[in-house]
Amino acid sequence: MSLLRDIPERELSDLLDEAQHLWETGRCCPTRCGVTRRWGVAAYREPPCGGSSTGIRAASFAVHNGEEPPVSGWNGAGNIFFSGCNMRCIFCQNWPISHKNNGRLYSLEEFAAEVRRLMRTGVHNLNLTTADHYLYPALKALADMRGEIPVPISYNCAGYFTEEALSVVLRFADIFLYDVKYLDPALAARYSGAPNYVEAMTKGLEVLHAARIPWEEDELGLLQRGLIIRHLVIPGAVDNSFRTLDLLAAYRDRGMIFKLSLMSQYFPAYRAVEHPDISRRLTHDEYDPVVARMEELDLDGWTQDLDAHGGA
Ligand code: SF4
Repeated sequence: MSLLRDIPERELSDLLDEAQHLWETGRCCPTRCGVTRRWGVAAYREPPCGGSSTGIRAASFAVHNGEEPPVSGWNGAGNIFFSGCNMRCIFCQNWPISHKNNGRLYSLEEFAAEVRRLMRTGVHNLNLTTADHYLYPALKALADMRGEIPVPISYNCAGYFTEEALSVVLRFADIFLYDVKYLDPALAARYSGAPNYVEAMTKGLEVLHAARIPWEEDELGLLQRGLIIRHLVIPGAVDNSFRTLDLLAAYRDRGMIFKLSLMSQYFPAYRAVEHPDISRRLTHDEYDPVVARMEELDLDGWTQDLDAHGGA
């Protein structure tokens, strides 16, 4: 049973009010752009993340088999790819969606119809992917149809949150796919245009730790509640990865329950080719020591086969 389905009406109403306030005042992410808007009324300027007041822009509603095993299962995760993003990663593999805002506008009713169609395929969850800038309308659409959602809601994000927004998401998302991209602010500024990423992400980790998210799988091994932390190893930034793993081990030792997904799938997409340090794939000399550190720290989770992603 999902959190959203079980939440009492009064609490749901408060939750929607909070989400609406954050979203309408442009405080849904650490950018705090301050763009004032109201649902259904075009703002005099659009926020930098590509969000819209007049509809939910989304690129696709699709079955996705590439998430971690207990999330994708055998029928796949039900991914909803929201257009736009509040991060500006120059190596983004989804850049036509995140940077160019590709997709189409859906009314809340059309959005709900697409969600119903996706659920009819038998997906194991609804996996909201990069939804931060649609926090209110996405929650509103799902809340209006919550009795029809038999699967967990997964929140798939870059880890670039305000504490207020995260506290809203924690009350309706069953599963968190939370990126920890950087522990080096210079890298976050250079590669993702987010100099305050480390500060925001580490505050977010504290909030997640305080929330005591349990790890619950059903009898078939499908994740019903839980936190998966993802970290992509980037060329030339092995020390950033070591520091990330050390931090996560410290959280594990403080009682945080999560699994780590250590990714090697980097390739120089979008504008990465303009930056010599990251204009290549990852090498074994970079990825293997990070895998070894993960084993040494006894962090539970998954690694990827570097050779399957064209590593050198
Ligand atoms: S997600 Fe977009 S609208 Fe919300 S604060 Fe960030 S930049 Fe502004």
